[in-house]
Amino acid sequence: MFITKEKNSYICKNRAWVEINLDNLEHNISEIRKIIYKDCKIMAVVKANAYGHGMVEISEKLLELGIDDFAVATLDEGIYLRKNGITGNILILGYTSLKYVDVILKYDLIQTIVDYDYATEISKLNISRKLKAHLKINTGMNRIGEDYNQLSNIQKIYKMDNIRVLGIFTHLSVADSSREDDIQFTKCQIDKFYNLILALKKQGYPLGKIHLQSSYGLLNYPELRVDYVRTGIIMYGIHSDKNIQTKVKLDLKPVLSLKARITSIRNIQKGDFVGYGRTYLANCSMRIATVSVGYADGYPRDLSLKRVKVFVRNQYAEVIGRICMDQLMIDISNIENIKVGDIVTLIGNRKLISAERVASNSKTITNELLSRLGSRLEYITITSKKKTINKDYVV
Ligand SMILES: *Cc1c(COP(=O)(O)O)cnc(C)c1O
Repeated sequence: MFITKEKNSYICKNRAWVEINLDNLEHNISEIRKIIYKDCKIMAVVKANAYGHGMVEISEKLLELGIDDFAVATLDEGIYLRKNGITGNILILGYTSLKYVDVILKYDLIQTIVDYDYATEISKLNISRKLKAHLKINTGMNRIGEDYNQLSNIQKIYKMDNIRVLGIFTHLSVADSSREDDIQFTKCQIDKFYNLILALKKQGYPLGKIHLQSSYGLLNYPELRVDYVRTGIIMYGIHSDKNIQTKVKLDLKPVLSLKARITSIRNIQKGDFVGYGRTYLANCSMRIATVSVGYADGYPRDLSLKRVKVFVRNQYAEVIGRICMDQLMIDISNIENIKVGDIVTLIGNRKLISAERVASNSKTITNELLSRLGSRLEYITITSKKKTINKDYVV
């Protein structure tokens, strides 16, 4: 494998870093493309720093793969993509204060209309160009969106002077569930949305692009005819939760690994404690190592004292004591030949350290685990494709 790109190369791979495998991203995209209709496009959800994967590097690769529709959560994320040369459509999925409408226009971003009142506010602004927008419809999630049954309000939005409606969408709130009542609820959401679409269509409204599925909406309701699927988590090659069953199963490969280094090795005796709070007591003599990553990097403190594993020298080692802000300790009694500087993998493509496993160990979903990876981490991207190889950086 070759490193293609790195931020801050002089410090890269020094302490704790995220390694992004672009081959796996490419693989996952081709898996998603296998199950969507020919005329349906992927809208790549790259909010929250592409779920901790690095939004610029991920978006650049996606552009290369022919994806030119992106979704972010905030105005700042959209601007950041533009400033880093990301072309194509960028939809802001969340609310943006209308104080910044000029900025949305300047960076050619598309704003979600969060409800009728928001649209009305836009219609009163004095702006030089129409604001590109997708209209969000609330069909039961009750987060943002104009209510599906407010047909006359929705029609009015289409006619407002300052707004160019390029799309209309909703969001499914239990598309990941295989419980019968949840399936009924989702079907009801889908019906509400398509009935609205039909009514608007009949009256000749230019609907624009239609979309409603995120990752699980796609995996469980792949039959829906739409212009976009808004995929986030599955592009990154993982499931939100290891226990979710889906109608369609994709062969996904995780894109991200979290790595750090061994910084110190010592022997301790029976009766010695390890870490803050004296929570770990050695009941025999042991060899332990310190690793240069902690909860401030996004490795949850909640994993402390749960016998969770990391991977080093081709073996699993157990995390012992409380995880500190910047460091943690592991038991290496049974691992030979470990030395300072060795690489430790904390999240990666192995069963006991998969993002799904680490997330469930800390009682959350992978979306949260990965999107909270800290800003202090270094980033490198790797690929087997010989494109921009620098021989110094062969892993
Ligand atoms: C975050 C988000 C998505 C992506 O969800 P995944 O489950 O990661 O695919 C899609 N649509 C909306 C509105 C979102 O907020």
